[in-house]
Amino acid sequence: PHPAGLTPGPPVSGDGDAEARAALERGRVLFAGRCDFAAGAADLAGLPPPRFPEIAFAGRSNVGKSSLLNALTGRNALARVSHTPGRTRQLNFFELAGRLTLVDLPGYGYARASKGEISRWTRLLRGYLRGRAPLARTCLLIDARFGLRESDRALADLLDEAGVSFQGVLTKIDKTTPSALAGLGARLEAELAGHPAAYPALAATSSRTGQGVAELRASLAALAGPRPPG
Ligand code: GDP
Repeated sequence: PHPAGLTPGPPVSGDGDAEARAALERGRVLFAGRCDFAAGAADLAGLPPPRFPEIAFAGRSNVGKSSLLNALTGRNALARVSHTPGRTRQLNFFELAGRLTLVDLPGYGYARASKGEISRWTRLLRGYLRGRAPLARTCLLIDARFGLRESDRALADLLDEAGVSFQGVLTKIDKTTPSALAGLGARLEAELAGHPAAYPALAATSSRTGQGVAELRASLAALAGPRPPG
């Protein structure tokens, strides 16, 4: 049960809905597949050749991005790779089941980042977002306690400009109350409606309790490439 205004992934209208159950099952099967670190890119020249449709994950440092990637894939290895010193400032590419690439974008909004770091990061991100044909969606992670910050708005503008469809994904919903969550959800949906590239429905997740994770898997699985032969 999700508060009004929050629709994580495809509609799940009770257990009579066979199509919703089938979508959840497709998500479960895809994300139970093998997931391997494929490449890390510190600059545009280091981007790997695209192989599968890509889903990028973006958000402020500490928003819960690594935890969500772990919860989606059921693995701890992803966070470990992305949190390795030297890899935290690069784009990390993970291939899932030979059908989808998950791209962990470096966290932003770090108070201690220098101007030089910020402008390098913005250039890298803008180059990736603008030029990446297989990029099917970006998940913009938003802490359910805080809502959008200026740095998130800057990224949403960049996504509009690049024409990359993005979805707001609330994290840590276990840390808020249902009524606060419903209020935030309504405000965010209204704000995101002003972004042409925003997907209308927010997803609401908790990596701690697993809420909303199966629904997000289902919604992302719809973007995956065909099953590899054999
Ligand atoms: P990242 O910097 O965006 O990769 O964030 P992390 O995944 O490392 O998480 C940052 C902090 O938030 C850690 O202390 C996590 O344990 C905590 N955290 C992440 N997801 C959740 C969640 O769903 N619920 C709660 N309560 N804490 C979370």
